[in-house]
Amino acid sequence: MASPGHFLFLGNQDLNGILRGRSVPQARMGEAMAKGLPWVPANLTIGALNGLPPDNGFGALGEIRFVPDPAATVTLGGHQGGPAFDLALCDARQMDGTAWACCPRTALKAAIADLAATGLTMKVALEHEFTVHGLNEPNHVAFSLSAGRAIAPLGQRVMDTLERSGIMLEQFQAEYGASQFEISSVPSDPLSAADRTVLTLETIRDAARCMGLRASFLPKPALDEVGNGVHIHFSLWDGTRNVTCQSDWLTGRSAPFVAGLIDHAESLVPLTVLSANSYARLRPHAWVGAFTCVGLRNREAMIRLVPRAPAADGSSPRASVEYRVCDATANIYLALAALIRAGLAGIAAGSPSPPDVQLDPDTLSAEQRAALRVRPLPAALDAALTPQALADATTWFGPDLAAAYYSCRRHDALQAADHSFDALAAKLSLVY
Ligand code: GLU
Ligand code: MG
Repeated sequence: MASPGHFLFLGNQDLNGILRGRSVPQARMGEAMAKGLPWVPANLTIGALNGLPPDNGFGALGEIRFVPDPAATVTLGGHQGGPAFDLALCDARQMDGTAWACCPRTALKAAIADLAATGLTMKVALEHEFTVHGLNEPNHVAFSLSAGRAIAPLGQRVMDTLERSGIMLEQFQAEYGASQFEISSVPSDPLSAADRTVLTLETIRDAARCMGLRASFLPKPALDEVGNGVHIHFSLWDGTRNVTCQSDWLTGRSAPFVAGLIDHAESLVPLTVLSANSYARLRPHAWVGAFTCVGLRNREAMIRLVPRAPAADGSSPRASVEYRVCDATANIYLALAALIRAGLAGIAAGSPSPPDVQLDPDTLSAEQRAALRVRPLPAALDAALTPQALADATTWFGPDLAAAYYSCRRHDALQAADHSFDALAAKLSLVY
């Protein structure tokens, strides 16, 4: 991995969805890759606008270690005479090398292992929408060739960088909103999907910077703009068989899992969308999924079932379930771990299949909503931070990680209260 003029950056995505870490010069790269680097526990909770949560439980105490995974790296080329950077993603471990209870990447590994114990594995592919500022293109025509051509130089640079590290993208395209674009990843196991997400987003931000542009994944750039979503497509597998969908609906294997996502939606959502800005995106009629429901090919549902080219026998080897209520402020490891934990809770409870909601759920009457188990999702961050959500996070991730995570969310809510929507969006747009 080492080559002249390189730095090595060891990082871990924190509880505010921000990759943080430290770098060493080339002479120390080998040692740092082998042994890792020390890190401060409280750094996991540094806010998006900086500062530590007032009730952050770590304080000034303790020391942990970032231990890199050589399989999760990308090399960002040098720019304007500066060195290239190798970026390596890490587990945050205790000083003796054992697992640290607050590491999101470790929490995802534990959730994957518990899912495997039920005989199921999961494949994940993600779509990320984002805004590119500074393009010399006066008029973004949604999904047009001209917008595709305008973004192609950035897309090519990003894909070249990623491909050198073995990461392929499925699409890089113009989206609907003003200067809005989208990438989609190819399906992989959840840990690789999370690692590739972090590496891909950092590569896009870096490539844009190098080209005099700015890429922002902020969920809601402006109140009158469409949002930038993260859509998590997942499929459940029994060995080599995709058991997600049969005859255009969930199977006996996937239905309890998906029912768990609906049953625990109010606990899941604060782990898949983080910031106060995120909640402005969760509105009806914006193709986001502002209600707890599943719908076949329904983009107003929190969960869309996507059968994709079913075979003659009704099986759907390429089917996925799309969880739409995520954005790029999320820690993607915790978001995927929370999905798996909620799904496992559904399996454990033997939850019955949710109904197929084929309408815009905002048009349902109160009686219809009750009959279909459709509930509106929280419309603001402070409304989402309920005792039940904290209790579920504690069950899923243990008390230390849950407490640290919720201290971050309360900190977000406090900081947001001092800002107008636009002032907060302007600041967060530079972070995410
Ligand atoms: N921009 C929408 C969102 O915020 C999604 C639109 C789409 O279906 O691609 O999630
Ligand atoms: Mg899209």
